[in-house]
Amino acid sequence: MTVELAVLGSGREVGRAALLVGGRGEKPLLLDYGVNFDEDDLPVFPGHVRPRDIEAVAITHSHLDHVGAAPSLFVSTVPKLIATPVTIEVSRLLLYDFIKLNGPNLPFDNYAVDTLVKTGTRLGYNETVKIGSYDVSLVDSGHIPGSSAVYMDVSGHKVMYTGDLNNIETRLVGPHKLAGLKVDTLIIESTYGDSNHPPRALTEERFIRAVREVVDAGGTVLVPAFSVSRGQELMMLLSENECGGPVYIDGMIREIALIYHNYSEYIRRHDLLDSAVRDYVIVDGWRDRRKASRKPGVIIASAGMLKGGPSLYYFKKIADNEANGVFLVSYQAPGTPGREILETGRYAEEDIEVKARLEWFDFSSHIDRNGIIETVKGLKGLKRIVLVHGEYKVQRALAEKLVEEAGVGEIFIPENGETLTFD
Ligand SMILES: [Zn+2]
Ligand SMILES: [Zn+2]
Repeated sequence: MTVELAVLGSGREVGRAALLVGGRGEKPLLLDYGVNFDEDDLPVFPGHVRPRDIEAVAITHSHLDHVGAAPSLFVSTVPKLIATPVTIEVSRLLLYDFIKLNGPNLPFDNYAVDTLVKTGTRLGYNETVKIGSYDVSLVDSGHIPGSSAVYMDVSGHKVMYTGDLNNIETRLVGPHKLAGLKVDTLIIESTYGDSNHPPRALTEERFIRAVREVVDAGGTVLVPAFSVSRGQELMMLLSENECGGPVYIDGMIREIALIYHNYSEYIRRHDLLDSAVRDYVIVDGWRDRRKASRKPGVIIASAGMLKGGPSLYYFKKIADNEANGVFLVSYQAPGTPGREILETGRYAEEDIEVKARLEWFDFSSHIDRNGIIETVKGLKGLKRIVLVHGEYKVQRALAEKLVEEAGVGEIFIPENGETLTFD
């Protein structure tokens, strides 16, 4: 059976995941339907698709670059959607927030999100469902709680789309579970395809040590963190390693922690999340915020790149005091306050010079180059690889390594708008 793959988004770019995969002459499955943001922070949508032209949509995880455009399919129709239960619950929060911030620029409203959440099929890992003529299952991708790769049988041709992937163990999630599977065509993310992360254990040690040094000396550590997964991972890390002061949680991190708490089977060390949820101080309102920023301790607050949210408020309060710390733990995109601060030590918009201890820690939830090579070697019967969700330069370097070290002959790096066919 000839398999067709149409790239609507994430071709030679990080994010905006959107792919159509199916047998020739059959309706395809839409794999993810995400957005990106341009320099003015406006959402950029993937290529258009009519709900009636697809068999179903599979959402790999709740990050907006994978789910952000999905509600547009639910405005006047109700296509079939599959995702894990935790993906659907967390997506609901993120999509509401997305609409709150970008409402006028979006072709959907909360009602479409509610329809998606109400009608979406919740599928556990490794349960196979028949969709059209395809057998489809979701495999744990190890990226964030509930994240999955889509494993699809197209008349005997096995296609694996990884979504975002990770192969290390953290307190929050275990490594992906792709090893040993038979895959003819692998569609894999390549965000960090040309570099390797330091071992997570070293990053954790360095982080804990730095936090203790600041708190012991009477300072406050601000940890701006992504609301989905990064914030909770740090809550759990600090739950296992006392930092010598109270830990404050502010922003959407808390609501998502509560959802994760309800889905214990998707959380590797649920005991640590449980004690963090019970022991930590939830910041509610401005009085609490002022109090938290004056006391020695740790504040974990969204947003991760200091682009608004409570983290920016705290930053303005604590950054000009050298007793404090600002510890960045997320990727800092060009043009964000977080990136500016790291590069210049200043936040020009508010004329703040950072005197606090400023550090960046690599807590990435994306697989790195060695991890990708190892993953590829662990699959059975692999015929070809399609690289998506990465910068072209990075993808070309990775493709070379895959040929050299994993012996893969056929590697594709499609652009958006391109359609590939495989026999
Ligand atoms: Zn992504
Ligand atoms: Zn992701």
